[in-house]
This record gives sequence, structure tokens and C-alpha cells, in this order.
Amino acid sequence: MKKKKIRLRWDNIFKDIVGILVIVVVLWAVYATSEPIDESKANNLIEKGVVEVFTRTDDPVADFHRDDAEKTEALKKLPKCSYCDEPIQDSYLFDIEGTLYCEEHAKELFQKRVEDYIY
Ligand SMILES: [Zn+2]
Repeated sequence: MKKKKIRLRWDNIFKDIVGILVIVVVLWAVYATSEPIDESKANNLIEKGVVEVFTRTDDPVADFHRDDAEKTEALKKLPKCSYCDEPIQDSYLFDIEGTLYCEEHAKELFQKRVEDYIY
């Protein structure tokens, strides 16, 4: 039986070591330059509902009900469209002389074609 010679190729080993060092340096640079999380900013985003926090416990059914209750509470705080009576969840609403409308119904009720008003 022939003996297989395993020869170490030093140039390949050197390339591997350089490759690993490059990866380590890049990861370190990403870590070192990343901004630390500002807790007050994060809490502000959570309070405004920009970032949702879904707390998981070992009881998924209870998690779902709690999350659902929180969302229902959040919806109650939103202004309602006076036409459809639904909470307005968009970024914009239409306040027409103190009466609030969602975008869909404001357009439906008040958006007109200019050509219909030409005389
Ligand atoms: Zn509406």
C-alpha cells in the first residue's frame, strides 16, 4: 500500500490566516463604529408605536391575548373618521372645519374634478 504524503502548503495556510484576520478586522470595525442604542430614543419609538415590542413568554396564547388587548387599546386612542367611524391609522387625516375624515372618505366626499367646475 502506498503511503500518501500530506504536504503542507505554507502559502495556502498563510492565505487562510490572512483571510481570517481580514474577517476579524472587518467585524471589529463594524462593531467599533456602530452606534450604541440610545435607551430614551428607543423608548420614545416604542411609546409612539413606531417600533412594536412583542413580549414572548412560554404561554403563546396569553402572549397573543395580551398583544391583541394592547393593540385594541392603542386603536381606542386614535381619532375616528366621522364618515366610517373607523380609527384613522394613516399618517394623515383630513380635518375639514373640525370634522375628521380618513383619506379614503375625504377623497370620496370632497375631491372633485376641476373640469366639472369650469364654466
Ligand atoms: Zn373613513
